[in-house]
Formats: sequence, C-alpha cells, structure tokens
Amino acid sequence: PKYVYDFTEGNKDLKDLLGGKGANLAEMTNLGLPVPPGFTITTEACRHYLAHGTVPEGLAAEIDEHLAALEKQMGKRLGQPDDPLLVSVRSGAKFSMPGMMETVLNIGLNDESVRGLAAVAGGDAAGERFAWDSYRRLVQMFGKTVLGIDGELFEDALEDLKRSKGTDSDLALDASDFQELVGTYKRIVREHAGREFPTDPREQMDLAVKAVFDSWNAPRAILYRRQERIPADLGTAVNVCSMVFGNLGMDSGTGVAFTRDPATGRQGVYGDYLQNAQGEDVVAGIRNTVPLAELERIDKKSYDELLSIMETLENHYRDLCDIEFTIERGKLWMLQTRVGKRTAAAAFCIATQLVDQGLITQDEAVTRVTGAQLAQLMFPRFDDSRAADSTLLTKGMNASPGAAVGKAVFTSERAVELAGEGEDVILVRRETNPDDLAGMVAARGILTSRGGKTSHAAVVARGMGKTCVCGAEELEVDVKAGKFTAPGGVVVSEGDVISIDGSTGAVYLGEVPVVNSPVVDYFEGNLAAADGDELVRAVDRIMACADEKRALRVRANADNPEDAARARRFGAQGIGLCRTEHMFLGDRRRLVENLVLAETDEERQAALDALEPLQRQDFTGILEAMDGLPVTIRLIDPPLHEFLPDLTELSVKVATAGRDADPKDVRLLEAVRRLHEQNPMLGLRGVRLGLVIPGLFAMQVRAIAEAAAERRRAGGDPRPEIMIPLVGAVQELEAVREEARGILAEVAAATGVDVPAMIGTMIELPRAALTAGQIAEAAEFFSFGTNDLTQTTWGFSRDDVEAAFFGRYLELGIFGVSPFETLDRDGVGRLIRIAAEEGRRTRPDIKLGICGEHGGDPDSVHFCHEVGLDYVSCSPFRIPVARLEAGRAAI
Ligand code: ADP
Ligand code: MG
Ligand code: MG
Repeated sequence: PKYVYDFTEGNKDLKDLLGGKGANLAEMTNLGLPVPPGFTITTEACRHYLAHGTVPEGLAAEIDEHLAALEKQMGKRLGQPDDPLLVSVRSGAKFSMPGMMETVLNIGLNDESVRGLAAVAGGDAAGERFAWDSYRRLVQMFGKTVLGIDGELFEDALEDLKRSKGTDSDLALDASDFQELVGTYKRIVREHAGREFPTDPREQMDLAVKAVFDSWNAPRAILYRRQERIPADLGTAVNVCSMVFGNLGMDSGTGVAFTRDPATGRQGVYGDYLQNAQGEDVVAGIRNTVPLAELERIDKKSYDELLSIMETLENHYRDLCDIEFTIERGKLWMLQTRVGKRTAAAAFCIATQLVDQGLITQDEAVTRVTGAQLAQLMFPRFDDSRAADSTLLTKGMNASPGAAVGKAVFTSERAVELAGEGEDVILVRRETNPDDLAGMVAARGILTSRGGKTSHAAVVARGMGKTCVCGAEELEVDVKAGKFTAPGGVVVSEGDVISIDGSTGAVYLGEVPVVNSPVVDYFEGNLAAADGDELVRAVDRIMACADEKRALRVRANADNPEDAARARRFGAQGIGLCRTEHMFLGDRRRLVENLVLAETDEERQAALDALEPLQRQDFTGILEAMDGLPVTIRLIDPPLHEFLPDLTELSVKVATAGRDADPKDVRLLEAVRRLHEQNPMLGLRGVRLGLVIPGLFAMQVRAIAEAAAERRRAGGDPRPEIMIPLVGAVQELEAVREEARGILAEVAAATGVDVPAMIGTMIELPRAALTAGQIAEAAEFFSFGTNDLTQTTWGFSRDDVEAAFFGRYLELGIFGVSPFETLDRDGVGRLIRIAAEEGRRTRPDIKLGICGEHGGDPDSVHFCHEVGLDYVSCSPFRIPVARLEAGRAAI
C-alpha cells in the first residue's frame, strides 16, 4: 500500500486514511488556497506501527521520496545549515481530538541551522531573536512530546528566566535570553531523558513521527475517545508540513477563526489573533489575544484575504468551518480547517440558515443535528429574575451553554474525587489543558479566568456538551491555595457553591434557581413563551421535516395520566408501555398483602375485588389522556414479594414483639420467607404470576375492559392493548389469552359495549425471540422489552453488574458503551431481527415495537428503523429526541 500522500494528492473524503487534518489540508491545497506544502503519512502506517511496534516496510523510502520532493519544491534541505527547511510534525486522526495528541514545530533546527535561520531572517537582532525563540520551542516541544519529559520543567525554566529579567512577557526576552534558554532546555533533556537532544534533522523528524503514532494511546487520548465514542482502533495520520512563521515580528502572527459564531450560529467575524506568536500561543493563553476583527486594523490585506477564504470554505464545505492561520511578514497561510464543533443551539440555527442560503436542503438540515443536541437544548436554564437577586461575581465569556451549579474545586483530581462522592462540582482553573480532562468530565461545569472561546476549556466543553464560562479575567484564581478572588474582594474557596451560566458568561455566588428551556416550552405547546426565538423556529422546522420523513412511530412509556398527557404534547402517538405495578404501591400495599395471605378462594377473590376498582380508575385516566391512540398496558410483572415488607425489618418486628406479635405480621413473615427468591429476576414473575395466582390477571383484564367500556360510553375512543410480560413459550401465552378473551367477552356482554383489545406479548427472553414464529400464533403484537432481553441475553443482572465491573469492561474495550444504554446490535439485536422476521412470517400484520430504555437512545432508534419496527416507545422527555432520530434514520 501507499503510505504517504502529498497534500496535492489527497482530498476531504479521505479522512479514514489521511485523518481529518490531512484530508482538509489536501482539500485546501487543491482549492488553490495558500497552504504550506507538505505530505501526510496514513493512518494505516500508524495502525501497523501500533500493532507491530515497528513502522511498515517501505515507509522510510516513501518518506525519503516525499521529503526530497518537498525539499526540491522549497529550494532548501531539511535543516540545511545556511538556510534550513523546517517542518512541523502534526497528529491528525479521522475525528478531531483537540489537543489530545501531539504536534512538534520547527523540526530541522540545531546549533548550526539556527544560525542559518537567523541570517535568512535578516541577520539583525530581530532575526536572531526569532531563530533562537524557534529553536527553544523545538527543544521544549520535542522534550515534552517525543522524549516524555514533564512539560512544567520547561515552563518553569522560562518563568525563572523572565523573573530574573524582571519581566512577565515573553516579548521582553531577546536573542541571548532564548539562546541561554536553549542551553537550559538541553540540560533538562540530558538529565531527564538520559540522552542528548538529537541534532540530526532527519532523526528529529523520524522520532517525532513515532511519537505522534504513540500519542494515539496516551491515557488522555483514550479517555477522550471513550467519552466521545470514537473507536479505539483507527490510529492517527501524521502531517509533515513546511513551517511558516508567525513569530517573525509584529507584522507576523497566528490566529484561529470561525466562519460563524460557534455558540449561536450568527454570521460574523469570530476568532482570536496574536501578533508575533507561534502555534499554540493563541489557545494556550500565554498572552491576551485580540479579537479577530482587530486584524483589519493591523493588516488589512491579510484580513480581507482571510475573510474571502472563509467565505470560500463555507460555501465549499456548506457548513461552519473553523480555521487555523498564520501570517508571516504580511503573507497569509492556512494551517488547518475543519467543519467546526458548535453548541447544540448553533447546530439547529446554522442548519436552517444554510437551508435559507440555498446551500443545503431541508432534509440535509435534519441530518446536521442530533438527538443528543436536542436533548441538551431541553435542559433547564437559570431563572433570570432570580439570577438578578443573586450576587454576580463576574462575567466571563459564554463558551458553552447551560446552567451549572456546584461546589468550586480547583484541580482535576479534586473534581473527580468529589464527583465520585456524588457532589456537583464546578472545575475552576486559570486555564485548562489536556491533563484536566478527567476533571472536566466529572464536573457539572467549567470556569476559567483566561483564554477565549477557542481556548482548550471552551473547545473541549462544547464537544462534551458541558457548561463552560471561560476568560473570566477579573477572577484571580489561586489553584495552590484552593480559592479564587472576585472583584470587590469576594473570596470563593474550595467547597463554596457557585453557579455559572454558559449562555451569558455570568458567574454567581451560591445557588441560582433554574427554569425550563424555551425549547421545552415549545414542545409543551406554550408557543407564546417561545415566540420569536430563532432557536425555537429552527427546532420547529427541523422537527416538522423529521416527522414527515420518519417511518417509525413514537410512543411513550407512561404509567399515569399526567405523564401520558405530557408525552402527547411532546408528540407521542400512543403509549408503548404502561406499567401496572405502581398501582400496587402506597396505600394499596395492604390490599396486595391480603391477596398474598389469602388462604381460601373467597379470601383471594375479596382481595382482588378490592383492587379492581382502583385499577379501573387508573386505566380510565390514562385511556382518556391518550384518547384515540393505542395504549399498551402490561399486566403485573414483578415478583409479589416486592410489594411485601422487608424480610429483616419484619423479622425484627415479630421477634421483639415476642408473644405479643400481631398474628397478621406472623403470617406475613411466613409469606415473605416462602416467597423469598435467590434470583428474583428469573423467578416467579410476569406471565408466571398470572398462571400461578388464580384471578390476578383476570382482575387486571377486567379492569381494563371496564375502563374502556366506560370511556366509550362517555364518547371517548379508547384503544387498549393488553401485554403479557416474560413469555418464553407460546403455551404460556395461549393459557392467559384464553382467559383474557373470556373476560373481554363477559364485560362486553355485561356493559353492552364491545371494545376490541389486542392481546400481545413482550419479547424479553431469548427463548421467546427464538420461538417467535410460534408465539406469533397467539400474539397480535410484540413489544421488545430490551432491558430484560439484554439482561437475559448477556446473563447480566443489571442491578449488580453496572457498579461491579462495567467500568473495567469499558476500559478493556469489551464494549464501547454499556449494552443497557445502546442496544447491542450483534447479540440482542440479532435476536430482535430473528423474532421480527419469524413473527411476521407467521402473522404478516403483527405490530412490532420496542419499549426498553433503548427506545430513546439515538443509535438504538436507528437500529429499530433498520429492522423495520413499527414504533419505538420511550420516556416522555425523550420523545422529541426519538422523533428527530427516527427522521434522521429515514433520510
Ligand atoms: P492541534 O491539532 O492540537 O491543533 P496542530 O497540528 O494543528 O495541533 O498544531 C499545533 C499548532 O501549531 C497550531 O496552532 C498550528 O496552527 C501550528 N502549526 C502547525 N504546523 C505549522 C506550520 N507548518 N507552520 C506554522 N504553524 C504550524
Ligand atoms: Mg490545530
Ligand atoms: Mg421486563
């Protein structure tokens, strides 16, 4: 295979092979944009290296060839003493992992070529300064990334030098200072890496390439991938790019830009620029950047060119792009672009703006947003009126929206620790770096005192959908002392509660109450509250298109009239799962106890007769809330002892009372002992209860039938569907169905109202899935109960395994995400496919749905669409998400 591609050979569709950065550098090159020449080593070479520990055969020769071509084009050799070609070696995976992997700049410098570089740069003091600054950066980055030396050692040495010079700006350092620093840095390398800094340019390059390969498996990269669900086996590409210099003086500089505001989607000039600086300086918060608009004043020609390039890119990619650029003595160079990350709100606004601009179709707009983003928009936000009463500490930049309240913590470790104890925390830092990732994941929100909207904290927080306020410059953050000081002298120490608003940048002392989001108001049908809001209009348009396109219907899991009504407002087309067990809780426990304790048929019937009217009322309310739409009611599923008192408590009660013990308690204790199960999940529950306890299911079916008749008489249109849980064999279902049909007929005869009710079953045991062809003889519908089906297919007890070892399993990559969160397509999914196919073969018009937690999980919704189910059912709040994802799956 070909392992190396010149920038002129690739294009944006080769991300798998060239990584995102490489593919887009090639795309920009081919668009005729000013990209410094270079080449890309493929992800395939990386995968080979990671698998075998050695680079693939032929790679070295290919690199030689491409380097020679590059040298020829540039008219100088890598590290040539009198006029060195310098390159950067940059990581770049298929999915962007900002700051997660490594890049080394200025490769090719050594004690000789640094003098050549100085001479070419003008031979004056400024040229000298530039050359030695570049050299010290190389030793620093190489030492940290390639040789694995603690980066702080280098930073401390730089700080020491500045202090000894009485300055706090790197701009005040001159050539001899940087020359001295190179000496110090080399000594650090010698002491901490046990080797000399390599002076051979080609050795520098080869070692850097391997370091980039290795960075794929750095702990923070692994953590980031898990968080973002990026597969672990893709590998990274390596880009070798000829250097351009933003640190050649004040007519040079480096910056980042967005074609639109990544927080709101608004068009305009967004970005940060820093004069006389190189590479990471902009995002690292070394000095304060200026807003990109200032560039117009600093260098109008470059500014105009940049704006025109931004327009070209946006029209070409038909999306928001983010950009890295450098200006070298008035000449603009493009160093990176990609379709940029954005907030959830911006995603919706941008998608509809692009439709209005004629760049994308309405269908494409639906694919440009995700259910996860929609879910984020449904989070509550701060109550403005109450916020006004709270102490506003300061305002920073609104880097990533949301309302976060928590205890201030100042280190990543503390964040992880306290979050692990169940506390909500806000991670407060001067600025974040990739080592803070674990803390950022653990925190509810992130607050920094330095850095702009393109700083590490902002970019990573947006990617994670986490609330972030950055660049709150009025705050003096003292990490060592574990506190920050706000204007007016207010001190916030570790553990003090603060509230941060990622939509406005406000930072408050104490807890600010939160309110509904306008998107939820909109779904609730409260249009006045949402009126005129660009975001709400965008959501409305996209949802309309998704609803029109989707093949799946969306139902709700709801057990009471309130949830049913809300679900309906959110767009539910029925109830896919109404659990009846909550109807046995609270005051009604006593009635269930009577049922369990009944010794004669009469006693049992009396207990059931007492329960029936209560159940009927429950069903009437739900059928009314869902009038005209199907309501699937599941007969009682959990083991009866779940409704009885706790064994230990009751034993103690009976024992302490001794001879005076209540006889009912004594009988109850016996029952609890008798009904105790080692594995309740696999015990007397579901259809088994219906077959073992006479009259129980009959009572429920009667309550359903009578409720439906009552609704019909009241002029309603009730559509109950009776669902039998935990069936494993068609014979079980047949027995229960016979009885149910008899009762339905009886009620019809007695009330004179015939309400048809379908009878079907849950498919939640592997045997049910495997014999679905037989079960369909007796079932008019199947509903896949994927929670239990996942438990029984894997042999996992959900209540036990998640805490016990899922973390380890995720670490080991046994699965990328818990199978309880996202449906396991290969195993559980296969059973669903078999059952759907064989069920339909027996009964072509059988209705198929899913009612586990998976019904609201985006990836699982796509699976259900692929299998051709009729509907998904999920919790009321997830309904908009499921509607959107069902639409996306169909487009
Ligand atoms: P990341 O993926 O972390 O952004 P990059 O590979 O983009 O890493 O590089 C880090 C920084 O160095 C960026 O600011 C980038 O613009 C800059 N840079 C990379 N290559 C060059 C180059 N050839 N000339 C000048 N600056 C460069
Ligand atoms: Mg970059
Ligand atoms: Mg179940």
